[in-house]
Order: sequence, then structure tokens, then C-alpha cells
Amino acid sequence: MLAQIYVPAYENRASHARLLWSICYSLAMTARILDGIKIRDEIFAELKMEVAQLAAQGVRPGLAAVLVGENPASQLYVKSKVAACEQLGMASWLHTPTANSTTEYMLQLVDDLNRDDNVDGILVQLPLPAQVDSKRVLEAVSPAKDVDGFHPVNMGMLVSNRPGLVACTPAGCMEILRRNHIAIEGANAIVLGRSDIVGKPMALLLLHANATVTICHSKSRELPEIIRRADILVAAIGRAGFVQADWIKPSAAVIDVGTNKVTDRAEAEQLLTNFPQRLEKFLAKGSVLIGDVHPDAVNTAAALTPVPGGVGPMTITMLMSNTVKAARLRRLSGKWQPASVAR
Ligand code: NAP
Repeated sequence: MLAQIYVPAYENRASHARLLWSICYSLAMTARILDGIKIRDEIFAELKMEVAQLAAQGVRPGLAAVLVGENPASQLYVKSKVAACEQLGMASWLHTPTANSTTEYMLQLVDDLNRDDNVDGILVQLPLPAQVDSKRVLEAVSPAKDVDGFHPVNMGMLVSNRPGLVACTPAGCMEILRRNHIAIEGANAIVLGRSDIVGKPMALLLLHANATVTICHSKSRELPEIIRRADILVAAIGRAGFVQADWIKPSAAVIDVGTNKVTDRAEAEQLLTNFPQRLEKFLAKGSVLIGDVHPDAVNTAAALTPVPGGVGPMTITMLMSNTVKAARLRRLSGKWQPASVAR
């Protein structure tokens, strides 16, 4: 009703969108929250059952994590991956080569893990030290055990829409969309960011689910106008609060992949003007996690993933899911072929 009254006075789509944004904001419309923790718990419950079924057939899925050196953030990530394995009753092994390890040492370790029948998934925690050829090491991982979905064989399977192991973060974004019954077929999906681990696989997954996909990057022009067309927006650029609330169509579902630690007070105050409780927490702690989408988007989008608590928990979840899948297909079929790994 409001739109019918006001829209004729505005001649272009940008001012139309800004008008709708201000109406929505003043009415304090709140987006449906796409809760990643709830979906993680659902998938963990499903995986626990599958792990028990595999155990009854003599198979215990196992993940080997390789952590080189003593990067505190990497230590934390790997610790949570090992803890998730324990929670699900899966086996896990942690290999910790020293920070001065060579490419040859890493290749030998990966080869040993490829040959170990108990190991279903190999996770090489990035970044590797500068002297190690990361590309060679990642490409040495058997595609059958490539639970990160980074191997060119698995990337190629995804491009040609054949079953393979898919990168965890974009696979997790698809789970969020599907389990929240967000219509993908025919939707205008905008993927902001074109990295090999998030943007590109995300765009391919949406394309294969019959969305009309546009990929944007740092050289794209007129981003606000492109984003205003999105029924589904996936933002993965690593820029805190970059996507403004008034760029978002009121019916849009927003998947915010960004996890940016903001420590600057002025920046936090600008981003959290409308969230005094979060600002208070920032002042007490000295940092806050902000997505690539401005927090005000909660008052303009139809649905969105929170940061934290949206996409973040899905990445480890899909790593566990890929490991169970890899175990089932490699060990129960006896002969893994890339084409036999189901998505
Ligand atoms: P990345 O490898 O640095 O890629 C960033 C992409 O964003 C690039 O394609 C870049 O374009 C584009 N970009 C950068 N600035 C832009 C701008 N101003 N306008 C438009 N495009 C821009 O990053 P990533 O690994 O994909 O990660 C992206 C974000 O997701 C980060 O915040 C990261 O922390 C987060 N992340 C979260 C999870 C999770 O589990 N929640 C997992 C992975 C990543 P060009 O290609 O032109 O340079």
C-alpha cells in the first residue's frame, strides 16, 4: 500500500530502493534470521546416525589434520575440527610438522596419509609457511580424501556438475538456503567475491540449482545497482559492513560469509549505531566480528545469516559431512572414482 502511494513520484530504481529502505527501516522490519547453529545441530544429529551405521559395518570415518608451525588462529581452527570429530564418534589424527618443514617433507606426509586406509579425509590447514609450495601440497592430496574440496579434480567435477567433494563454506551456504526453504530455481543470485574457495564454487552451486547467477568482484561497476536486483545475495569479500542496507531488496535472502574482526572504535561506532548492546560489548572487549553486509541489513532484508552464528558454524559441519561421505564411498564401494562421490 505504501509503495503504491509513493513509487510514482520516483523516477529511477535507485531512489525507489532508497525509499523502500527508509520505509522498512522506520517500520523496523526485521529479517528472518537464518540460524547456522541450528542447522549445524540438525546436520550433526544426522551425521551421528550415519557414523553409527558405518561403525556397524566396520568403518570408522577418520580425519587427519595437518597443522604446520604455531599460528594461534590455525591452532584454534584445527582444535575445533578435531573436537567436532570426537563429538561425532569419528577418528582424528593431528600431525604437527615444525614451521621450518620443507615441501618435500609435506609431500611425503601427504603421501603417507593417502596410503593409510584408516584416513578418509586429509585437511591441510592453511596458510602454510612461505617456503612450502602450498599448491603442490594441496594437489598431492588424493581427490578421494580431499574433504576441503580444493583439488582441481573436485573443482572440475563441480564445474561439469558431476558428483564430487565440494568446498565446505559454499556447500554450507547451500544447506542454509535449502533447509530454510529459500527458492533458488529462477532466482537472481548475486555472488560478491570470486575466490576459489568461496565465490567461484558458490556461483557454480547456485547455477546448478537453476539460479540466474551474477558474479561480482573488485573491478565490478555499479555494485549497488547489481545488488538491488538480488533475490539471493552471497557476500564473500572480507570488507566489514561493505554492503549497505539500502542496496538490499526487501524480499532478498542474504548469506553473509564475511568474518571481519573490527578493532577500531570509530568504525565499530559507525557500524553499530543501531545496536547499542553490541557496541557496549565491543567497548568491553575491544573487538567485534562483523560480516561483509552492514548490520543494519537486518531491517531491510527478508532473511539473513547473522555474523557470528550464520555461515561460520557450517564450514566445520560440511567438513565433517565430507569426511563421512568420503569414508562411505571409498571404503564401502571399495573403489573410489571421483564420479562416484555423491554431493
Ligand atoms: P579472498 O580470497 O580475499 O577473495 C575476496 C574476493 O572479494 C575477491 O574476489 C575480490 O575481488 C573481492 N573483493 C574484494 N574487495 C572487493 C570490493 N570492494 N568490491 C567487490 N569485490 C571485492 O576472500 P575469501 O577467502 O573468499 O573470503 C571472503 C570472506 O569470507 C572473508 O571475510 C573471509 O574471512 C570469509 N570466510 C568465512 C568463512 C566462514 O567459515 N565463515 C570461510 C571462508 C571465508 P578480486 O578477485 O577482484 O580481487
